[in-house]
Amino acid sequence: MLSGLKQFSKFYKFATTPAKSPRVAVFSAKKYDIKFFNQINEKLPIEKRIIFDYFEEELNEKTAILTQGYDVICPFVNDKLNQPTIQTLAKNGIDLIALRCAGFNNTDLECAQKNNIKVVRVPAYSPHAVAEHTMALLLSLVRKIHKAYNRTKDGNFSLDGLLGFDLYKKKIGIFGTGKIGQTFMGICQGFGMEILCHDPYPNEEVVKKYNARYVDQATLFKECDIISLHCPLTFSTQYVIDRKTIDIMKKGAIIINTGRGKLMRTDEVIAALKSGQLGGVALDVYEHEEGYFFKDVSADVIYDDDLARLLMYPNVIVTSHQAFFTQEAITAICQTTIDNILKIKANEPCDNMVLPLQK
Ligand code: NAD
Repeated sequence: MLSGLKQFSKFYKFATTPAKSPRVAVFSAKKYDIKFFNQINEKLPIEKRIIFDYFEEELNEKTAILTQGYDVICPFVNDKLNQPTIQTLAKNGIDLIALRCAGFNNTDLECAQKNNIKVVRVPAYSPHAVAEHTMALLLSLVRKIHKAYNRTKDGNFSLDGLLGFDLYKKKIGIFGTGKIGQTFMGICQGFGMEILCHDPYPNEEVVKKYNARYVDQATLFKECDIISLHCPLTFSTQYVIDRKTIDIMKKGAIIINTGRGKLMRTDEVIAALKSGQLGGVALDVYEHEEGYFFKDVSADVIYDDDLARLLMYPNVIVTSHQAFFTQEAITAICQTTIDNILKIKANEPCDNMVLPLQK
């Protein structure tokens, strides 16, 4: 029996919504999702409006039973679209998974395909949102802004322990030169940094535009003062940062991860922070972020020892998957999700299809 299920916006329905409107169950819904989806939906002509129902709960094999009576589900990054979840969705008649995020590593695509469920996503919303947050993390870490903020609030105006270093002329390694990686390169260029990058699909434009140099993975790890992760989580990138790759880095290297938590083996990162092999780490994503990120657990004990330890270190900054969180990005996410749903339901071509695979 499911307990504690709360539907905090029980049913948002327009008096004149046509009966054939798509019925969409939005999972892991927050107040801002409701606000932005509703604002955009209200501006659509009546015949195009969608019936949204919002669930605070994450979607997983237990909560999947809530999808009865809907045609579409709209999950977020940490919802678990594994085999049992997808089988329940199929049983309940769901024919479209409209992911409101770029990554689809949380979705068992093979199972969705077998069950004839289409999958769409939001491939790009604001690469600036994530790239600017990446620089905010990097600057905070190397200039110790997080420490200074607390100190001055407490009337402590001393500088001891706050010594930073210039980013100018430092070597930054961009791992993944897609939309976010390139946008971040532009910012790093403005700071006068030397840019090295790695991607299985090198892009000559990147070399010209950002005066960047493509290198192999080992060279990037070996030569850079700072490494920033901007690749998707795949079989080949999972745990790309582990003891072995950290050991070839410069002593005191800094890593920024706004990609996905499982790009890094957390216990081995912690060991390298303890030994001083890593000089600092800033994380917007965390290997075991489900259960903590996007939630207020400030009155509880943190049972995840790795997370608790990371939060204690002075040279670690953790933000809870907020890099995407700007007004521009949320507007684009909700707008694209609505467009995706309307196109698929109208049998129109949709560029953002993940499944069925496009030729
Ligand atoms: P993108 O698809 O435009 O770029 C990804 C790049 O990574 C591509 O150029 C690809 O070739 C490259 N890549 C793939 N495998 C690689 C490997 N083994 N080594 C190096 N590079 C590799 O995606 P994007 O929009 O730039 O987003 C990048 C990632 O950022 C997403 O996959 C997502 O996980 C993450 N993201 C995080 C947030 C956040 O809020 N923290 C928001 C959006 C995206």
